Amino acid sequence: MSNACMLSAEDVDPKLLAARRLAIIGYGSQGAAHARILHMSGADVRVGLRDGSGSAEAVRGVGITLRSVPEAVKEANLVAVLIPDTAQAKVYREEIAPHLKGGDALLFAHGFNIHFGQINPPKDVDVIMVAPKSPGPMLYREASQGNGVPSLIAVHQDATGRARDVALAYAHGLGSTRAGVLETTFAEETETDLFGEQAVLCGGLSSLILAGFETLVEAGYQPEVAYFECLHEVKLIVDLIYQGGLTGMRKGVSDTAEWGDYVSGPRVIGAASRKAMQEILAEIRSGEFAKRWIAEGQGSQSEFNRLRAEGRKHQIEEVGARLRSRMAWLSGSGK
Ligand code: NAD
Ligand code: MG
Repeated sequence: MSNACMLSAEDVDPKLLAARRLAIIGYGSQGAAHARILHMSGADVRVGLRDGSGSAEAVRGVGITLRSVPEAVKEANLVAVLIPDTAQAKVYREEIAPHLKGGDALLFAHGFNIHFGQINPPKDVDVIMVAPKSPGPMLYREASQGNGVPSLIAVHQDATGRARDVALAYAHGLGSTRAGVLETTFAEETETDLFGEQAVLCGGLSSLILAGFETLVEAGYQPEVAYFECLHEVKLIVDLIYQGGLTGMRKGVSDTAEWGDYVSGPRVIGAASRKAMQEILAEIRSGEFAKRWIAEGQGSQSEFNRLRAEGRKHQIEEVGARLRSRMAWLSGSGK
């Protein structure tokens, strides 16, 4: 495989980050990790939180400067917007945009709001993305152990002529050049992220689990046995795939399971599923999916709440809660 587009430490001009006053807006999964890693490395970091935020204590506890969102933006010349995607447009409009100055950089960890036009920054600021390919706690753990997780970087708007290099320096600051930094675009990151979570990771996988579980239960098998086969064991298989790809997984299972993989898998995910994937991708690319989701977010979220409630009532959730309550190793892990 060509490695040409993976960037490493030797491609970085670290002065670009050292010269910056950074504002990290939000102290959640990504925000806490970025703020702590960059603060530890000696960068000039302040965290911007809304008044009364429950995270204020945590920020003070690690000795990072705490500001309101407008104050943080005023003081900084690189603003990382790390609050939930659904909250960003409003916070940007009311508390960030009025305080941006020409030459500032506005940084995102996901492209949704920029790509779908929910945030429209002025022409004189750099608009960049640094998207670590891990949740915040893992990003922090790896960086603090001298490692890093891979990141994607992208430039939406290059006002200063240095936008890409600033993004790369920030990714380097997070430790990502140790694991590899890949250049992408806001469009590619946003569309593939949405597609992945809908078709494969969240939507595809949960529907696959449910269909398997329901098929066994409807055929008269015990729901508990169906749960173990179709949900519990997913983790064992995913761990093998994560470690060694599909080949590694196939080496780790029995020959019978491997044979079944080849002859039955393509029947389950056949032409109809591939056609559905193409349609889902087309709706993402046309903006149709974003339009529907944004409308849901601006309204009462009634459809979202209904689907969420329905999902929680499924038999697999009741059976699973009961079985997991006896798995000592899961305690405290959100069961
Ligand atoms: P999160 O939900 O963990 O954190 C949200 C933070 O924002 C919290 O500190 C919360 O108090 C604060 N916040 C919430 N609403 C706010 C408001 N109205 N005003 C001010 N602050 C508010 O978010 P996250 O998962 O870290 O996501 C942040 C960004 O990172 C998103 O763009 C997301 O797509 C991206 N991202 C997340 C991950 C991940 O693994 N979580 C990975 C890559 C990229
Ligand atoms: Mg994602």
